[in-house]
Amino acid sequence: MDTIQVTDPATEKVIGEVPACGAAEVDAAVVKAQAAFEGWRWCSANERADLLHTAARLTDEHAEALVESLCREQGKPRPEQEEEVEWTANTLRYYAELARNSRGRVVPSGEPRSQLNLVLKEPYGVVGAIVPWNYPLLLLVWKLAPALAAGNTVVVKPSELTPLTTLLWVQTCFAHLPDGTVEIVTGYGNQAGEALVAHPGVRVVAMTGSVQTGQRIASVAAPMMKHLHLELGGKDAFVVGPDADIATAADALAYAALINAGQVCTSAERVYVPAARHDDLVEAVQAKVESLRLGHGLDDGTDLGPLIGEPARAKVERHVAEAVRRGARVVTGGSRPQDRNRGFFYNPTVLVDVDNDMAIMTEETFGPTIPVMAYRDVAEAIAWVNAHPTGLGATLRSTDPGLCKRFFEEVKVGTVWINDPLTDNYAGPFGGMKLTGGGRELGEEGLETFSETKHVHWDFSDARKDWWYPY
Ligand code: NAD
Repeated sequence: MDTIQVTDPATEKVIGEVPACGAAEVDAAVVKAQAAFEGWRWCSANERADLLHTAARLTDEHAEALVESLCREQGKPRPEQEEEVEWTANTLRYYAELARNSRGRVVPSGEPRSQLNLVLKEPYGVVGAIVPWNYPLLLLVWKLAPALAAGNTVVVKPSELTPLTTLLWVQTCFAHLPDGTVEIVTGYGNQAGEALVAHPGVRVVAMTGSVQTGQRIASVAAPMMKHLHLELGGKDAFVVGPDADIATAADALAYAALINAGQVCTSAERVYVPAARHDDLVEAVQAKVESLRLGHGLDDGTDLGPLIGEPARAKVERHVAEAVRRGARVVTGGSRPQDRNRGFFYNPTVLVDVDNDMAIMTEETFGPTIPVMAYRDVAEAIAWVNAHPTGLGATLRSTDPGLCKRFFEEVKVGTVWINDPLTDNYAGPFGGMKLTGGGRELGEEGLETFSETKHVHWDFSDARKDWWYPY
């Protein structure tokens, strides 16, 4: 079988190799997961919860190895990887408990003495979980934990760029589950990924990735009426309110735009600031950005790692070059670091004099860029937020309650952060509106995503009904 070489993006060295699976390997995995489903769906909620708690405990126990592996194949700094692994374990715990709670509800019947109307939540069967490279474990566990908790079995397709940590995690932390409950197939999206989407034994396709891939998956899955759960790209805005403290806003902005080198679906990718405060914000964010250190994720003191690969860096360079050609000015950054001749690094970059029709404001850059634009009034800023075809998240910096309420009610996005950008909460749903796909992970909605609804109308008697024929 062909293999895929996995590269450390900070050194460009090959660090591992995995099989490039095709339709035959996907079929074998789905068949195993289908066989396991018959046992797993009838496992008691308590037993399932215990098994998920064990997976969480094992994740804690293997945290150091997982963090190191993530640093090598994915690239973000150690503190960010540690947080990813901690959140991964906690998501397992959250769903272990949530799924003990309920199997549906009882609704009032037309004939209360002789009937029960049950609304049951059932597992679908086999879930195909397709995951990107920017948070390989977290974006997987947001699917895997609720899917398993709801009684489904899962076939995982990690990104071809970051399969190593996922393999390590599944092998070390899920081996105690019945055989076939969690299967993994490594491979390219258009081969292993598409074979999983097209397989008739897969009832749910849960995928996080780009809008383009989501559209392709939807077109392949549509004729089979599969349940689709799509968490797609965004172009999130960061709006500085007229009342915001500029020094804190600059710190929050640097974090929101540069965490994971800007490779977060909810990265602040467009910055809107009142015209009167524009220069102060730019000066403050420039100082912050210039204090950050690039390096290998495993090195102490690294604030920013590399981009995931050369195509990712080339896209950032294209966006910056196009903006500059059309009149934008680079305040800081705008180039590769001089002192690093290996690794896909790019200096964090602040740009001003940008326009909403430049690629850096319309396409997902997925890199360490902070394009800043001045707005006249709040109505204009909100209109700009909503003008983008995706609707994942948006941040507002303000402590004016009237403005905060107006903002969160008028922006068309799945998550609004007021003053605390990019935080997650297991109990609150995460996902986007419009082209971002409409799927929701985490919270009760996350369990609902992997549960099929059945209405049972149950009459205990065999009496004839007055309304039957003849009329
Ligand atoms: P991608 O769309 O290239 O790939 C995502 C996954 O889909 C990979 O595993 C890939 O192999 C697979 N894939 C590709 N083509 C496929 C096909 N035809 N059929 C089935 N599977 C296929 O995305 P990426 O570059 O890995 O990740 C970055 C993108 O993910 C960005 O657009 C980002 O915004 C988005 N993202 C969204 C969220 C969210 O929650 N909304 C979170 C993180 C990342």
